[in-house]
This record gives sequence, C-alpha cells and structure tokens, in this order.
Amino acid sequence: MNQPALLQDCRICPRECGVNRFQSVGFCGAKAELKINLAQLLFGEEPPISGTRGSGTIFFSHCNLLCVYCQNHLISLNGHGNTITEEELVAIMLELQRQGAHNINLVTPSHFSPQLAHAIRSAKHKALIIPIVWNSSAYEKTSTLQEMEGLVDIYLPDYKYYHKIYARKYSNAEDYPQVALAALREMHRQCGDLVVNSDGIASRGLMVRMLVLPHGLAGVKQSLHLLADEFGTRLALSLMGQYYPAGKANEYPELGRGILPEEYQEVLDTAIALGFEQVYIQQLSSDDHWTPRFIRGGDAANSNALQGENL
Ligand code: SF4
Repeated sequence: MNQPALLQDCRICPRECGVNRFQSVGFCGAKAELKINLAQLLFGEEPPISGTRGSGTIFFSHCNLLCVYCQNHLISLNGHGNTITEEELVAIMLELQRQGAHNINLVTPSHFSPQLAHAIRSAKHKALIIPIVWNSSAYEKTSTLQEMEGLVDIYLPDYKYYHKIYARKYSNAEDYPQVALAALREMHRQCGDLVVNSDGIASRGLMVRMLVLPHGLAGVKQSLHLLADEFGTRLALSLMGQYYPAGKANEYPELGRGILPEEYQEVLDTAIALGFEQVYIQQLSSDDHWTPRFIRGGDAANSNALQGENL
C-alpha cells in the first residue's frame, strides 16, 4: 500500500471522495494524520474479545459512515481526539499488550486503513504478538481490506442495514447492504469462522455485530437469514440491544426511543430458529435499561435475554 499516494487522492473507502487528505478532508473528516480519542483496556466487549484481562481498545476519531444515531458522535462526527504519530500508536499497542490485553481492538479504523497497515506491521516487528481486532462498520472496499490480509486476526464488523432505504436515510449510504456484505465475504475469506481457545478467548476469525433499531428499522431478522445463507450457522454473531437515541436521532421520530424487550426477543428467536451456534446477546437490567454486558446465548434453545438468565 503506497500510503502517501492513497491519501493524496483518497478513495480508500466506498465514498471515494478523491480529496488530498494532506490538505483537506472528505466525507469522514479525517486528515492524513492518525487521530485517536482513547486507548485503554476495555471489559465491556463480547466475552471472547474482553476475556478476563480486557481488550486493548483504541478509538479512532472521525468515521466514514456517520450514522445519525451514533452513540459516539463526539468522536465520529465532531472528531474529538488527538493526532499521534505512527511511532506513538505502535508504542500504545505495545503498552496495552504489556498491561495484559488479550488483543488490540481498533475501533472505527477504516478511514485510516493505509496508515494502520503500516503501523501494525511495525508493531508486529517490535514484538506485538496478541491478535489485532478490526472493529469496523463494514462500509469498506474489498480492495482496501485485501491490504489488511495477514495483519488483522479478528474481524468484528457491524452489519447495520438490510434495507438500502434506511441505509440512505440514516447513514447516507444507499449501497451499504451490498458493500458491507462484500466486505464480510472478504473478511471471512481471510480469517474464517471465529476460533476461541480453551480459555474462551478469540484468536482468529469473524464475528458480526448487529444493532437492533426500533421498529425493525435495521432489518436484523432479514439480515440473519441472509447471513445464514451466505456464511452458515457457525458464523459468530453479536446481537446488540443497547440502542438509545443519540446524536441526531431525535430529528427522526421513529428513532426517538430505545428498543422494546419484545423487539429484541424476536431477533434472538430468529437467530435461534435459524440454528446459529455462537450468539452473544445483551440483557435488560433490573431497571429496564439495556446493559452493554454481553453473555453467550448461543446454544440457547432456552435463551431468554429478557429474564436475565445467566446462560
Ligand atoms: S476515507 Fe474519508 S476521505 Fe477517504 S474516501 Fe473514505 S470518506 Fe472519503
């Protein structure tokens, strides 16, 4: 990947802005310099990712999808964060490894793909041995993802929309459903199904996250059918119930509430009926708020996220 050339005429994601990021910005708002908001051990990811010692999570500023309901809109839309050099990023990765992280979890990395390919190579050269997690929206070009082959160990993408009408309305990306599906195919080709070791920690593979929106707007049930057909039921899934109106969501009346327990249960029932074997789910807490705590609900003929059973 010729990093400067790619950034001088940036077409690294499906937006294909063609801007020179050394001088201006495109849709994502990111310049050529790496910019991060936070780097720390995180314990709220899915159990195979957070494990017992935490996931070494690095949040990148800006985003190439910019959903209107983004819960991190200060980071994604407003670009809160600090620019850092590649050397500083490598040092952060190594420090997170030293602190015991199970992996390096790159959150919203897509618009920095060329810089990150270089940084990951450099970090591995300096004895980074824990897996790299690519935690993205999946609004990514196959050709860009191909450049990450051998560098990324675990892909943790979203699959956000089944219907292009809502992809356009909420993320200004009508082509999201087919672009993201092609991205998932490439991720699966590179890393296969999720591999979890005897301690329950992921070492390689693909896990797809799906955020349930109110009124079935994300089309998660339809997406589950699609993914079962495409990848089979060994595909690891994370069904996220934590939606709440954030960012500009209140400008869209239908997005103005959290999801109902029955909406989440319908999605979970669909995943179970389709036979998915490895499903991570979230629970309603006693005060009727969705907690981002994940549990494994996979072999879950009896899974019931709503009763708070410890599966
Ligand atoms: S990474 Fe940013 S500037 Fe480059 S094509 Fe995508 S949205 Fe445009």
